[in-house]
Amino acid sequence: MICPACPTSIKRTDFFPFFAPMSLYLAALNSGSNGNCYYISNGAEAVLIDAGISCRETERRMMRMGLPIGIVRAIFITHEHTDHTRGAEVLSRKYNIPVYVTPATYRNSRMNLAPEILKHFSAGIPVYIGDLCVNPFPKQHDAAEPHSFTVSGNGVTVGIFTDIGIVCEHVAQHLSQCHAAFLEANYDEQMLENGGYPYYLKQRIRGMEGHLSNTQALDLFTTHRPQHMQLLVLSHLSAENNHPGLVHELFSRHANGIKIAVASRHVETEVFCVVNLHAATSPVSL
Ligand SMILES: [Zn+2]
Ligand SMILES: [Zn+2]
Repeated sequence: MICPACPTSIKRTDFFPFFAPMSLYLAALNSGSNGNCYYISNGAEAVLIDAGISCRETERRMMRMGLPIGIVRAIFITHEHTDHTRGAEVLSRKYNIPVYVTPATYRNSRMNLAPEILKHFSAGIPVYIGDLCVNPFPKQHDAAEPHSFTVSGNGVTVGIFTDIGIVCEHVAQHLSQCHAAFLEANYDEQMLENGGYPYYLKQRIRGMEGHLSNTQALDLFTTHRPQHMQLLVLSHLSAENNHPGLVHELFSRHANGIKIAVASRHVETEVFCVVNLHAATSPVSL
């Protein structure tokens, strides 16, 4: 049946797996400086971008969401900060999931992975995980070799863009391909300026290798979003220097029909289903 609550192409899912052709499913298990983990699936296989919450918490949240961990075929690591790597070692060992990481990121991380599950990737070279295509590209952040990714499948492209100091041409170009994106909106500039962080930390956060402010993210979104974008999930919000309601209100004013959601530092999001509308000949039934 067609979800009566969601007449658009993006639907709240109540069960999983199910089959909706020409779709990808995405969710944030957690998002913020306390842990990042993003899930993208075509229904048959899934990848995690970062594994920054514990294995136990990853299992708990996926179970609550109705997402089978058995279809996770790979974990991709954006950079070595522990909010992106904390659960990777245990999760990958327990479920025998390959971890894709650059050599410099791995050397600078605390991960100790068995050789058979340690995989590498390079910027600009797509990695195919079943029918999913993961595209890595470099970004500006205070880490050894930071990357972001887009994940494509079933004619749908999803971007994961967090921990970004400045908007470079790579980020802009990749966002312009996306049907949906997790986009960092880390801090409100006034809240950071007037807040209690020491000066050096404020400078690090707003520096060229820090994080995107709400207004930087908004400028990226409004300048480079494509016509086919359906969903924006604002991500990696600061606990001290931002507020979910503030960010949602700001972006909703400029949404232009695109659904705006905010990923939480405390709980998982809903599972979103994003449909390739150009390929769908009739409304997708769930
Ligand atoms: Zn981070
Ligand atoms: Zn980071």
